[in-house]
Amino acid sequence: MIKYFCVTKRAVAITIVLALVCISFIGLCIGVSVAGTVTPNGMTIVIDPGHGGRDGGVVGTLTGEKEANVNLGISKSLRHFLTDAGYNVIMTRQSDVDLSSGDSGFKKSDMLARKKIIEEAKPNLVVSVHQNSFPDKEVHGAQVFYAPFSDVGKEIAETTQAVLNASLNCNRIAKSGDYYVIQCTEYPSMLVECGFLSNPTEEALLVTAEYQRKVAYAIYSSITQILEEKIA
Ligand SMILES: [Zn+2]
Repeated sequence: MIKYFCVTKRAVAITIVLALVCISFIGLCIGVSVAGTVTPNGMTIVIDPGHGGRDGGVVGTLTGEKEANVNLGISKSLRHFLTDAGYNVIMTRQSDVDLSSGDSGFKKSDMLARKKIIEEAKPNLVVSVHQNSFPDKEVHGAQVFYAPFSDVGKEIAETTQAVLNASLNCNRIAKSGDYYVIQCTEYPSMLVECGFLSNPTEEALLVTAEYQRKVAYAIYSSITQILEEKIA
C-alpha cells in the first residue's frame, strides 16, 4: 500500500511536471502567435467598403445584387489577408449598414462618419472598395482612382492598377477621381472599382466568394508592395 502510494505520488509529480512543460510550451506558442498577428510592423490600413444600409450603390443587372454587398465581401476578404500578414486593419463598416446619424442628409452624414474613422485610425493607407456601372454593357475591368493632385495617391493607385491588370486580366490606367473619401484626409488613399456590375460576365464573377477572394488577394498584394517600397 505504501509502495503503491509512492509510485502513484511519483507518477502524479511527473504528470504535473509534464503538464507544466506542455502549458509553458503552448503559452510560448500562443505568445509568438499573438505577437505575430498584432504588431509585426505597426502599420494600419483602413478598409472602406463603399455604401451600405440605405445606400446599396449600383445594382447587378443579372442578379440584382447590391454593390454594397460585393464591396463588403471583398473588404472582409482583404481584411483577412492583411490581418494574417500582421497589419492592423480598421473597417469603416462590417455589416450592411450606413454610417449616417440622422434621416436628413444621410449621405453627407455617412461620409463624415467615414472621415472620422479614418482620422482616428491615423492609417498608413486607406482603401475604399467599390463596384462600377456603365450604360455600355461591354465595358469591364478593375479601375483604381486617386485624389486629384495627390502624387502619393497617384503612385499607390498605379501600383494597385498594375497588380489588378495582371491578376484580373484587364488593361486600365489609374485615374484621378473626385471622390470625397480619398481626399477628405491627409492619409494616402485610393478607391478601387473592382469591376462593372453592368457587364454580365464580370457581374457573374463579382458575386461569387471565390472571385471576391481573388480580387482581395490582388489588392492585398499591391498593398504589401506599396507599404514596403513606397510609403514605409
Ligand atoms: Zn460605389
